[in-house]
Amino acid sequence: MKVIQVKCPHCNNPIKMKQKDLLFYCDSCKTIHVRDGGINVIDYEIGDFGRNAPQGDRIYVPFWRLYCSFTIKNMKVEGGGLFKLSNWVKGGAGTGGDIFIFVPASDFDPATFKRLAIMLTTLPPRYNSRTDFNNVPRLPTTMSREEAAQMAHFVVITMEAEKPGTLQDLDYTLNVNDARAVYLPFLTSPQGLVLGI
Ligand SMILES: [Zn+2]
Repeated sequence: MKVIQVKCPHCNNPIKMKQKDLLFYCDSCKTIHVRDGGINVIDYEIGDFGRNAPQGDRIYVPFWRLYCSFTIKNMKVEGGGLFKLSNWVKGGAGTGGDIFIFVPASDFDPATFKRLAIMLTTLPPRYNSRTDFNNVPRLPTTMSREEAAQMAHFVVITMEAEKPGTLQDLDYTLNVNDARAVYLPFLTSPQGLVLGI
């Protein structure tokens, strides 16, 4: 297996990786950096597992958590009652506000991608943060921050399409103000990935 080795830009510690990953985590000084033309240390969060989460099934899944300003300018829905999007956006009488959109950042099949994005965006998880992975394996990050920002639109459209009414027209603006790498605790199960908080 090919091992990739780079040096931490913060403390010079060598970082070895056995899999292709856009994010380099330094065990020594706990920084994460990306190499996208330049070398940039980025903000991140690692969510802690719940006390009862079985050890052997634990895995960290990377997300880009996008902090967005969202405004619905016009929306026509046929046959639906409450609009999921309007409920979801807090404040401003349901026409706009600031929201977190979670974009899965590893390689997933479309169904899993959709499920994870909608689950976390609809109900942002609460967890305690930690600064290391505690030897729990993690999935590689394969999606860049820029790609994630583009996927934010897909998540918005998909969320509304999940409801019974037929979305006929949706005119909105979405500005991504900030993107943070967030590793969330998951458990592998026969039903797929489930939150391990
Ligand atoms: Zn370091």
